[in-house]
Amino acid sequence: MGFLGFIKGFSSVYRAKPRIRAYPSFCQHGHCYIQCRTFSHFKDHDDSVLPVLIVGAGPVGLVLSILLTKLGIKCSVLEKGKSFSHHPQAHFINNRSMEVFHKLDGLAEEIQRSQPPVDLWRKFVYCTSLTGPVLGSVDHMQPQDFEKVVSPVCVAHFSQYKLIRLLLKKLEDLNFLICKPEGLNDEPFRGGELLMGHECVKINATGQSVNVTASHLKEGKYTERNISCNILVGTDGAASTIRKLAGIEMRGEKDLQKLVSVHFLSRDLGQYLLNERPGMLFFIFNTEAIGVLVAHDLKQGEFVLQMPFYPPQQSLDDFSPETCKQLILKLVGQELSDIDVIDIKPWVMHAEVAEKFVSCDNRIILAGDAAHRFPPAGGFGMNTGIQDAHNLAWKIAAFVKGVAPSSILHTYETERRPIAIFNTALSVQNFRAAMAVPATLGLDPTIANSVHQTITDGIGSILPSGLQRVVLDGIFTIGRAQLSEFLLNEKNLLGSSRLAKLRRLFEEGKSLQLQFPAEDLGFRYLEGALIPDSDSVRAQVPPTGRRRDYIPSSDPGSRLPHMNVRMLSNSFSEACISTLDLLPGDKVEFLLFIAPLEKSYHLAVAALKVAEEFKVSVKVCILWPTDTVKGAETRSKTALAPWENYIDVAEAKKSSNSFSWWSMCQMTDKGAILVRPDEHIAWRAKSSIDDDPVLEMKRVFSAILKVNI
Ligand SMILES: Cc1cc2nc3c(=O)[nH]c(=O)nc-3n(C[C@H](O)[C@H](O)[C@H](O)COP(=O)(O)OP(=O)(O)OC[C@H]3O[C@@H](n4cnc5c(N)ncnc54)[C@H](O)[C@@H]3O)c2cc1C
Repeated sequence: MGFLGFIKGFSSVYRAKPRIRAYPSFCQHGHCYIQCRTFSHFKDHDDSVLPVLIVGAGPVGLVLSILLTKLGIKCSVLEKGKSFSHHPQAHFINNRSMEVFHKLDGLAEEIQRSQPPVDLWRKFVYCTSLTGPVLGSVDHMQPQDFEKVVSPVCVAHFSQYKLIRLLLKKLEDLNFLICKPEGLNDEPFRGGELLMGHECVKINATGQSVNVTASHLKEGKYTERNISCNILVGTDGAASTIRKLAGIEMRGEKDLQKLVSVHFLSRDLGQYLLNERPGMLFFIFNTEAIGVLVAHDLKQGEFVLQMPFYPPQQSLDDFSPETCKQLILKLVGQELSDIDVIDIKPWVMHAEVAEKFVSCDNRIILAGDAAHRFPPAGGFGMNTGIQDAHNLAWKIAAFVKGVAPSSILHTYETERRPIAIFNTALSVQNFRAAMAVPATLGLDPTIANSVHQTITDGIGSILPSGLQRVVLDGIFTIGRAQLSEFLLNEKNLLGSSRLAKLRRLFEEGKSLQLQFPAEDLGFRYLEGALIPDSDSVRAQVPPTGRRRDYIPSSDPGSRLPHMNVRMLSNSFSEACISTLDLLPGDKVEFLLFIAPLEKSYHLAVAALKVAEEFKVSVKVCILWPTDTVKGAETRSKTALAPWENYIDVAEAKKSSNSFSWWSMCQMTDKGAILVRPDEHIAWRAKSSIDDDPVLEMKRVFSAILKVNI
């Protein structure tokens, strides 16, 4: 069924549970009375106020709406577009985003099944034309990338618009309604609606809620509609209206480069490249044109060509479909009869991060490109946004469910803003690494940019605009002459020295990389909803733009290391799951890892007791070494009674010399690790707790959830 080809009547997807009040309640196991807290000050009995409104149905807004819906939080989404763009845009999904998708009812596996085979996209190819000489080719996959040692899933190459389709399907499976503007009546939103053709134009934060005005076209006239929500999340992209309306400034470098993106189809070109030189990115340098071709799908012949754009001397009219076709042919180097130009879009590359991610008393929040925009080199834009949504969802759920005060939402900024700043610096490094290739060929893009600036703002600005254009074209033509076959060959002294330099650049990994395992899986929150170890606060290593391997770590703030484990309770199943899969995606639940030792069981009992007091769920995971699993279940049952939320698992080692769980975590089995619902480590004890474990767990949960005790 088409995503937008129908309009259903509203139906309640999730009804609000009664608000938690401060009253004595009987515990789950019937042996204690506890004082429950409430932090939600909003009126969730009031159907006219939505708990969460998301503005922008790009990948980040859609992922957030899925995560929240799975956690039982009512949310609706506004999208200004009447339909979804087919411009492929992002295509590289990194390992951590694939782990997030793995928990969205197998979305990662669906992507893996639908993406092109990895051998068709593992390389970047550098050439003077697509059918001409290859200057170099870099393979970005290493054997360990396929071994699933550090993660249960792998990176993927899948166009953004195809991802959007799968995300919409996931939302529909969760009973979300995707509505056309004309299909709406004036009923208040109940949560679970994606409203197409609705542009947020005004916001007004009052005492307890945010009033949002959305404009939509109804019977030929723009009509406004007001929506009240408790939390407003702006996932409305790089030019975010929410960011502007909330008065949040961007900080960083603007206008690094202007480009034109040409989306086109050619099955002939796809077939040729598939057979002759498959790859993901083709950097093409020839005397007539320069461009980067992104092969979104060689089998379908779907491509995007990125070319530098120099306004005001150049205008978008200079990139008509016919001109683009001619430029494509120059870059291909031979005739093709089936080029079909679909879309031509200019865009500007920035390296900026919002000064705040959370404002208006924690009620207005920015995520994705609305909060950060950086060069696409290295593919961190959408991935960083997806991971913003993952960090945010459980915190919103904890607040809406009354488990944590609104200050938990502020930890989203404390944790994610430094990551955005780091990824911006990394993307700028990557952009520079990409520019090192043309610079080695004698075509330094920084020189081209300064020439352009001198003509636009400096001495050249006195020239009439037509003449400025002629001068610019002339200088660029002279520049591109460096790429002529006459110069760029092994027999020419200058050419051979440039080619040798280029080879060194590729061999030393100094050209643009595709994978960054250390940053992709190894990013770490230093403060926020966690308790840092006094001995683990290390300075961030500045980004290098080079591939560095991920080293598993149990330092608080790190992602939980992956290891395959075998569930002991299910004696019929020999199936292994990842430690990351032990956390559910549909519940705000913490996970406490312990070894089967007496003191650790005491700590686990204290954690279960305290968690109940804090109205939060904790599951205990008892990790047994592979060789001592006999009697595991009886031992844990007796030690943890009357609590039942625990799981016994055994390490499923790949080989006898692989690291054990505790040594991989650089700890001993006397310690314990507490993991948050987003699979980041909240707290760890490196050795057994000798003081009162209940007091310790109270300290831990109050610090993580920002609850005063
Ligand atoms: C050429 C290129 C290649 C890229 N490659 C990669 C890659 O390989 N990997 C990667 O991770 N990233 C990549 N990126 C970046 C990636 O495309 C973006 O980071 C990503 O689209 C951001 O997602 P988002 O949901 O935050 O915003 P967007 O995708 O911009 O979505 C925002 C949505 O909000 C809607 N909207 C805007 N204003 C309003 C309003 N006022 N009211 C209602 N709705 C509104 C818009 O219509 C849009 O649908 C690339 C970008 C470019 C340009």
